[in-house]
Amino acid sequence: MAGLHTVRLLREKGFQGTITFLGAEEHVPYDRPPLSKAVLKYRGEDAVEDVAELAFAFDFEAAGVTLRFGERAVAWSPGAVITAAGDRLPYDALVVATGGEPVRLGFGETLRTFEDAVRLRETIGAGKRLAIVGAGWIGAEVATAARAAGCEVVVHEARERPLAAVFPAAVGDAMAVWYRQAGAVLRCSDPISAAPQDADHVLVAVGARPDTRWLGPAFHRASDGSLLVSEHLETNVPGVYAVGDVAAYRSLRYGGEHIRVEHWDNALRGPDAVVANVIEGVGAEVHDPVPYFWSEQFGRMVQYVGRHSATDRMVLRGSPHEPSWAAVWLDPLHRATAVLAVGRPRDLAQGRRLVAAGTVLDAARVADAGAPLTSAAM
Ligand SMILES: Cc1cc2nc3c(=O)[nH]c(=O)nc-3n(C[C@H](O)[C@H](O)[C@H](O)COP(=O)(O)OP(=O)(O)OC[C@H]3O[C@@H](n4cnc5c(N)ncnc54)[C@H](O)[C@@H]3O)c2cc1C
Repeated sequence: MAGLHTVRLLREKGFQGTITFLGAEEHVPYDRPPLSKAVLKYRGEDAVEDVAELAFAFDFEAAGVTLRFGERAVAWSPGAVITAAGDRLPYDALVVATGGEPVRLGFGETLRTFEDAVRLRETIGAGKRLAIVGAGWIGAEVATAARAAGCEVVVHEARERPLAAVFPAAVGDAMAVWYRQAGAVLRCSDPISAAPQDADHVLVAVGARPDTRWLGPAFHRASDGSLLVSEHLETNVPGVYAVGDVAAYRSLRYGGEHIRVEHWDNALRGPDAVVANVIEGVGAEVHDPVPYFWSEQFGRMVQYVGRHSATDRMVLRGSPHEPSWAAVWLDPLHRATAVLAVGRPRDLAQGRRLVAAGTVLDAARVADAGAPLTSAAM
């Protein structure tokens, strides 16, 4: 995603140099969100490739872009990238947009690519038994699709409830109910270290990690292997940028902390800054959007905007046991830091503006789910 948008914007913004677009997968770039949603649920006649929207409407040939798909970058030396075939590709600017690799546990399948999704889709038929390791975003979406296909689903979660590292108990406990209502068995506090014996298939969905080892020791990295980049998305090596899931960027919004946002919206927006900095010179544009993502699970649209910390106060709008509700986080100065909206897109849209502006909110009015969120502004 981030690679595609970088290439597209380079040409749209007038970059006239040569562009080589290298990618380990054989396909033209595609969206990953449908892989755990529409692709798994699809039971129709059309080619599943169409459901995944594999063919992005971008004319690489007309844009004069050299495509090298199915080819992996395996090493870096100053001013050049070396491919698996041993070719040396010199560059003036290099953009690393290599995403993340699913964390593997030594058993089971993972879900990251189109091929993974097609394989998984074929295993989740009626009467099959699927074990999912991890009750995170992807685990929940796959459980949704597998239950819809009539598959028996058991989800093993190491923590005491879903998304315990991200949300307080009131939110995770409500999400646990969604699994049960859909007929999936959710086993919390159940860290497993071997494939469950009672399953036909096992999906391991415990997160992704960037593999940046191929770049060698010259680059500064965070402990998870992601590349540490400035607010301009430049690495410590001049002329080399990183964008999308692979990058931990310095966020001025969050006090200069390096943050890694593994979501679609970040991969879509990052290229704007990269391209401006490549064309106009480093410093032309800062990447610092309010983080946003969505997930579709158990018939619900779940959206989150912002970034809350453990010390922020969570205020509920409506009950998490209702079909639609929201949670709003306020910092100690009562400024909005994040909004989680379940089936409440208007709260999300308004919340995005309030979070971006750091608006001070009145907690009692936030809690009034019948009034617009913006009316809580002080
Ligand atoms: C199943 C699934 C569902 C998702 N659903 C949502 C959702 O609902 N909402 C949301 O906000 N986000 C979602 N995401 C996250 C979102 O898709 C990612 O944040 C986004 O794809 C990141 O884009 P990227 O370009 O950084 O990385 P990627 O899309 O991972 O692209 C990186 C590419 O680089 C290639 N590559 C890696 N190493 C090399 C190398 N050495 N040489 C050459 N090529 C290499 C990889 O093969 C890959 O094609 C989902 C992700 C998955 C896997």
